Amino acid sequence: MIEASYRGGVHLPALNLWLDPSSPRTFAFVSHAHSDHTGKHGETVLSVGTSHLMRVRIGPSVCEHVLEFGDTLELRGARFTLLPAGHVRGSAQLHLETEDGSLLYTGDFKLRPGLSSERIEWRGAETLIMETTFGKPQYIFPPTEQVLSDVIAFCRDALDNDAVPVLLGYSLGKAQEILCAVAAAGLRPMLHGAVAKITRIYGQLVPGIPDFAHYKASEVAGHVLICPPSVRGSAMVRNITRRRVAMLTGWALNPGAIHRYRVDAAFPLSDHAGYDELLQYIDLVSPKRVLTMHGYASEFARDLRRRGIEAWSLISPDQLEFPGIAAVGA
Ligand SMILES: [Zn+2]
Repeated sequence: MIEASYRGGVHLPALNLWLDPSSPRTFAFVSHAHSDHTGKHGETVLSVGTSHLMRVRIGPSVCEHVLEFGDTLELRGARFTLLPAGHVRGSAQLHLETEDGSLLYTGDFKLRPGLSSERIEWRGAETLIMETTFGKPQYIFPPTEQVLSDVIAFCRDALDNDAVPVLLGYSLGKAQEILCAVAAAGLRPMLHGAVAKITRIYGQLVPGIPDFAHYKASEVAGHVLICPPSVRGSAMVRNITRRRVAMLTGWALNPGAIHRYRVDAAFPLSDHAGYDELLQYIDLVSPKRVLTMHGYASEFARDLRRRGIEAWSLISPDQLEFPGIAAVGA
């Protein structure tokens, strides 16, 4: 089996390859363009969409191997294939075949189809390294159509009461999902500058990304304003005297989310897999071994072992029980 350890990113020593490392490395796979997955690396393997988005965010890598989904690259004695992860546009899983075996690394992913991301695909592998952000049973997301329909009802109610609906979602991925839903409902989207910048790149990558207005304080009335969560308490939002603010995040499933985020409403729109999707994905890939990371990695691995699946957290102490994995920091 392919050996793996975690030290600020997954490391595969046989190829000296890092998967989503947080600090610069000589050879890395970047699964998608969210800032906690990108870096200024030497040689990088990434998808076409991620290459475009990363250029805008942090500039190009020194040497990029840019792959279309499904294409295969032979490098350092291994076969690299990228598969869509369904998380944000361009988000990729890495399927590796080496003389030591096969491996599928999900990066961030979800099974539910999105309005602006590619639909996930999968391939069987001996080792599955997966993100487990929502790896506890209470995190099962309602169908996306239902969540978006609730969001649109919230917007219509605000507009009917001469208030501006302000929807908070991450600039890359979440905001474009919201934009597509708002435009499809016949409402008028207006975007914060940071969201507009990413959406312009999406426009080159995604057929049919809707038109939108750029934020202008004097013209905000009658629009649905889409902003990154960071502007929640800013003067830009505070100066809208009649407003209703909603946070769109998977963590909206937690009790008290409205109070935690200090908003009028919270909707569980997530670009990650819920607990049920994590389990379903393991069935689809049918690996011999599962290695977990992010969120409830340890709890989810323990849950899998109780189900008779060999599973270990890459980032938590239970890896010490597993002889094939080096300790964190080792
Ligand atoms: Zn992400």
